Formats: sequence, C-alpha cells, structure tokens
Amino acid sequence: MGGRDLCERTMEPLTPETIAKRVQSILTKIRSAEEKAGRPAGTVRLVAATKTVTVEHIAEGVRAGLSILGENRVQEALPKIAMFTQAPVHWHFIGQLQRRKVRSVIGRFDLIHSVDTVDLAQEINRRAEEAGCRQNILLEVNVGGEPTKAGFHPDDVVRSVPMMAQLSHVCIKGLMTIPPPSAGQDSARPYFRTLHELARQIEALDLPSVGMDELSMGMSNDFDVAIEEGATLVRVGTAIFGARHV
Ligand SMILES: *Cc1c(COP(=O)(O)O)cnc(C)c1O
Repeated sequence: MGGRDLCERTMEPLTPETIAKRVQSILTKIRSAEEKAGRPAGTVRLVAATKTVTVEHIAEGVRAGLSILGENRVQEALPKIAMFTQAPVHWHFIGQLQRRKVRSVIGRFDLIHSVDTVDLAQEINRRAEEAGCRQNILLEVNVGGEPTKAGFHPDDVVRSVPMMAQLSHVCIKGLMTIPPPSAGQDSARPYFRTLHELARQIEALDLPSVGMDELSMGMSNDFDVAIEEGATLVRVGTAIFGARHV
C-alpha cells in the first residue's frame, strides 16, 4: 500500500484540465505547422494514440476536441469502442495486426494504418467481403529498412501495390511510417520525405481504386516536421496523455 502511494505521488497528475490544455496546444501547433508549410487549414488531422489510456482520460480528450482515436491492440480496443458508441469519434487501427484478428477489426475501424504485407491485405479483403463492406487501409512502409520493424520495404511497396489494387473490398488510401528512433526531431525528416516520394511514385502508376491522399507520419516529438513534409494524419500519444507506464 505504501508503495502504491509513493508511485501516485511521483506521477504527474493527469487532470481534465491538463488533457484539455494539451489537446488545444497540439491542435494549435498543427494549425501553425500547416500555415508554415503553406498548406490549407484542416488538411492535417490529429489521431490520438490511446493505447493504455483509460476510457475516462479518453473521454476528457474527446470533450477537449479529439475526434479520431488510434488503438494498437484489438482486445484493448474493442471494449473501448463499445464505451463510445454515442460519442462523435472515429477509430483507427494503428498497431501491428495479426491475421487471426482481422475478422474482429472489419467494420469497427474507419482506417487501418498498418497493413504491412500483401497477405494481410488479402485477408482483410476476404473478411470485408464476408462482412459486405469495403475496408479503408494504409500501407505501412519500413522506410528505415530496420530488420526488426514491420512494414513493406521501400523497394517492395511500389511493386506490390498493383496486386493489392485488385482487391475489390479493400481501398488503399495512402501510406504510413514509423521512422527509426532518433535523437533530434529533425533526424526523422528524410524518412518522412521518402514516404512522400513513394506515395508520388505509386500515384504515378495511376491504378484504379488506389489513392495516395493520406500520409500517416509524425508522433509527439516530430509531428510538426512531418506536417512540413506532407503528413495528413499525425499520431500523437505522449504529448496528450503523458508517458505510458506499461
Ligand atoms: C504509440 C504510438 C504513437 C504515438 O507515439 P507518441 O510518441 O506517444 O506520440 C504513434 N504511432 C503508433 C503506431 C503508436 O503505436
């Protein structure tokens, strides 16, 4: 009991006011990054990364203006989604998606950011067809070519898109990346630029039912740089809800 007290006292309190202040501050920073990059207001949307965040804290964030919530794990996301059926929110899936979990995500998430293999895209297509819907997806690219990271290799993604464009129950909306961990915030810039360039190459293929309107890139530390490089979706967790303790 003593240990628990100590732990709570040393943690930064996450009050409704703190959450509201941080949400407003990030929305303001997004606006000024759009402006600085000469992009129209509203072209960049904030996806709040809510893994490990309680429904109470998420509800405070929604009251403060969050409208897109991004979850990483199916079993954590489903009960949360069930709590927000009356709220004006959209859910995105941003974590690594296992094949056997695909059936549970179809129809529950407006956008899956993290499609990292042709096989996964095919499984999503099969399950979406069964469910009688069309699933919006992004292709995740491992721009840093890190051996342990998920995502298409940059050389493979352009090659693989024509095959996935044939899937009638999947709609490819763009690309997503998580750059290698970095020290300075500007070190992610070349990776963001590469993702944008890959999107242009795919666009040039001019495939029916493939759009490259969305670029999901940038997190708490570097979303402003990502916006300068063309991000349309930024995924921010820590800067809203604080450091994760698990
Ligand atoms: C957790 C997470 C984020 C948010 O990262 P922060 O550094 O906390 O802003 C973004 N994208 C993905 C895929 C994540 O899992």
